[in-house]
This record gives sequence, structure tokens and C-alpha cells, in this order.
Amino acid sequence: MTKHIFVTGGVVSSLGKGLTSASIGMLLESRGLSVRMQKLDPYINVDPGTMSPYQHGEVYVLDDGSETDLDLGHYERFTRSPLSRDSNWTTGQIYQRVIEKERHGGYLGQTVQVIPHITNEIKQCISRLRAPDVDVIITEIGGTVGDIESLPFLEAIRQYSLDIGKENCLYIHLTLVPFLKAARELKTKPTQHSVGQLRQIGIQPDIVVCRTEQPLTQDECAKIALFCNVQSDCVIEELDADFSIYEVPLTLVEHKLDDIIVKRLGLAQAKTPDLSGWQEILKRLRHPEHEVTIAVVGKYAKHKDAYKSIYEALAHGGVAHHASVRVLRIQSEDMNREETRQSLQKVDGILLPGGFGERGIEGKIVAAQIARENKIPFFGICLGMQCAVIEYGRHVLGLKDANSTEFDKDTEFPVICLMDEQRSIVDLGGTMRLGSQPTTLVAGSKAAEAYGTTGIAERHRHRYEFNYRYRDDFVKGGLTIAGTSPDGKLVEVVELDNHPWFIAVQYHPEFKSQLTHPHPLFRGFVKAAIEHKNKNK
Ligand code: GLN
Repeated sequence: MTKHIFVTGGVVSSLGKGLTSASIGMLLESRGLSVRMQKLDPYINVDPGTMSPYQHGEVYVLDDGSETDLDLGHYERFTRSPLSRDSNWTTGQIYQRVIEKERHGGYLGQTVQVIPHITNEIKQCISRLRAPDVDVIITEIGGTVGDIESLPFLEAIRQYSLDIGKENCLYIHLTLVPFLKAARELKTKPTQHSVGQLRQIGIQPDIVVCRTEQPLTQDECAKIALFCNVQSDCVIEELDADFSIYEVPLTLVEHKLDDIIVKRLGLAQAKTPDLSGWQEILKRLRHPEHEVTIAVVGKYAKHKDAYKSIYEALAHGGVAHHASVRVLRIQSEDMNREETRQSLQKVDGILLPGGFGERGIEGKIVAAQIARENKIPFFGICLGMQCAVIEYGRHVLGLKDANSTEFDKDTEFPVICLMDEQRSIVDLGGTMRLGSQPTTLVAGSKAAEAYGTTGIAERHRHRYEFNYRYRDDFVKGGLTIAGTSPDGKLVEVVELDNHPWFIAVQYHPEFKSQLTHPHPLFRGFVKAAIEHKNKNK
């Protein structure tokens, strides 16, 4: 029988519920259990695809093309749980389904209400992941307990244990235990209040996980246990992981969180955990033999979560070579300053991430030019590839003011343009070229060498494409087309032969990198950065 874990958050947002949920998933998998991960988001947008990265951080794309919350990135980086549209539900989607059903007469004359109709729909979305081969489903509830908008989700998970039996559900509440510097004391009151709020709506958490910057004393644990009505071994300390997010599972295992879960849910099939591989990788992370500096030049460089998966994939690429990767985040508009351009010439690698809209584009083009001319390893991703193509068109082929029609509709040289099937689309949500698409790489290309194969599939999220009318001109001008869609029509990868490592891709490789399996292109890029640094010593 499939068991359920529900993870809620209290006191403040941004506590790392996604990381904690992913770490729990990883720990249960290390005990031989089959796990599915899911996130329920209380906002009204149908998905985060239309939200600004400033609002919501990165939009994480799955193989099936769904645009999801960035916590799903943590799930994929920490676990083997297959993710799909069923792994991320928002209030917007739930209401959309209920309203569609109502318009089709699906409620047979009833008044459609939050309870039971919205809550039933939420419960169905949770149940959809149940399967005979699934041991545990971990459902993370977005937002903070006490928010008005998360109430239907909390009510649904409360009812869930009535439907399938209390013994089959476990409620984990993640809170903050702040340290007051002036009093030199940890404060448990916010946790007490937040658990009190959960109990008011009928949920008694089984386990309270406490984010804290100072270790909890036994007395503090006992106090939290007493006031929150949980057993004292079920108060779990989660000390801030200053060094790396990949330490979180090890912190939780130290406090026996996995043992408690296994015992509480009666998961008799669980084995003793094997974390040796993970520990080995962390050791490498802690004791690097090299350090490289990679500049990420983007429109949202100031936002710490806007290019989350790219930062993680760079760290993974580093692990593969015993290297620590220092990321220099450069706001693309700052490229118009001489000192920024100078500092870019000193880095060991330049990465241009994806993005939308005109702001900062010229800065990205300058960054691509600096990388090309100074033979600095270069990695362009999606918009990053488009900027590299524009740059090559302008400065090598002499196509004056070449551009993408996204930024200049009337450009004389539209080297990047809209695909035919995109021309008539007016809706913004979910209408791009999305999800996993096959790509055929050219044998002997640098990309094929990095992947070790010519047949790959990677995730896409874009509207605009390399304009095939200019293909011959670019090839004659020295740009290598190293990968296309299998029918040869869409350009997916470009690279330069007369450069140590210059690869740009129309897709998003960062979504498929894991600590235990660094993505081949990130691995190759970091290796090239190490070589570049050594050469220039
Ligand atoms: N704005 C570009 C497009 O739509 C690139 C998108 C991206 O980088 N994800 O094609």
C-alpha cells in the first residue's frame, strides 16, 4: 500500500521546504524504497510559466513540457522520482478543472463549493500518483501555514488521512527557530504558534523539523515537543547548511529522520541506508583540487534563484573534475561598462543563460564576442545561443545589426526568427516549444564528443529559432552546426572549431544534471575552464 508524507511550512517562507522534501525523498530511496515527489502551489497562476523570475525564480521544465516550480528541480537533482504534469498542481489548475467540469454539467445541479469540490479535486491530484510499485508519495504544500490561499490544500491533506487511514499518512512541519543575537537565545515560540495554527485546522504534525542557525539543546527540543504535542525524538534539528545544499540529507540522517519515518509508516521493506556514494561526492566538494571562475551574464543575475539549475549544474560539472566553481554573476546591462568588460576577460569561462525580452541583450552579445575573440570557454544556453549567433552574424559575417525578430521586428538580417507554427499564437501560457525533443549531433563535433553519442534528447522552452535561410552563410563563415532536429530543419547546437570550447545550444541542458550524474556539457565546460586557467597561469 502506498504511504503518504505531507510537508508543510511555518513561520516564514523560503525555509527550504523543497530541499527538505527532496532530501527526505533521497533518504527513503537510499533505503530501497520507491518514491514519488509532488508539489501543490497555492497561487492562482495556472503554472509559473508566465511569472517573472523576480517573482518566482526559475521556471523548471519537465520532459513532458510542463513548466513547473523550481522545487521540482531539487526533486530531480536529489531523487529518481519520475516527474510529470501530475507532480505540480496550482490553485489555478485545480479551479480550472473544477470550472470546466461545472460547465460540462459534471456536478449534476449541485452548488459547487471549496469543500468538498475543490478539496476533492486536490485529493484526486494527490491520489493520481498512487501505484502498486510506489512505496511513498511525498507531497509538499507551497506557502506558509496561516496563508488564506493555502487553506483548501491543508483541508484536503487533513481529509486525506481520514480517507486512507491515519497509519498511512505522516505530516511533517518545517519551521524556523530563530536565534536572537541580543538575548543569545533560540526562540521556540514562533514554532509553537505555527503548529498551533495547524492543529486549529485539524492537522497534528507527527514530526517537526526545525531550521536553525544554532544547534538545539535537549531542553529546547523537549520544549518544542511538549508545546507542539509531538514525541521528543520527532523534533528534528535542521542546521543551516552553510557549505552546500547537498549536505541537508546527511544532517537529517544524523537526527534519524529516515528511521522515524520508516517506523511511523510501518515501511517494513526499508533496507539500511547506503549513503556512501553521496558522502564520497561531498568529500570531493569539500576538498577541491582546482578552482575556476565562471561568469554567468544574465538579465536576472542579481536574483539568486533565477538561474538555479544552471548554478547547480556548474557545481556538478566541478565535482566531476574535483573543482570548485566560483560563479561571478554579471547583470547583462552592466556589460556597457568598461570595467565589467575588463573583468570578463579574466574569467575562466563565460556562460550565457536563457531569457526573454530585449533588456540586456546587447550586453549578452558583447559577452559572446569577448569569449569568442579571447578564446575563453563559452557556453550559450537557449537565448544564450541566439545571442552567440547574432554576434557571429554581426561581427564575422558582417550582417550589420543582425538580430532576432524578438528584439527587432524589422531587422534587415533576422538570423533568429519565429518558427512558422508560432506565428499565429497569441496566448502566452504553455504555448512555446516545450519539453524533451530529440536532437541529432554531428559525429566528430565537440558536442558529440562530450555526450559520447550522436542521439540525444533535451528539454526546450523557446519560441524563436535559428533562421535556416542563413544557414549556408554561417557555415561558409566558419560556424559549425553541430546538432539539429532529426529532420535536419531546426538548428539545436552550434560550435566553433577554431576555439578551445565554444558550444551553444537551443535547449536547456541544466535541467538534466545531477550531483551524481553531472551533465556532459557542464562537465566539458568546466574541464575547458580548468585548462584555460592553467594555460594562462
Ligand atoms: N526568448 C527566446 C525564445 O523565446 C529564448 C528563450 C529562452 O532562453 N528560454 O526563443
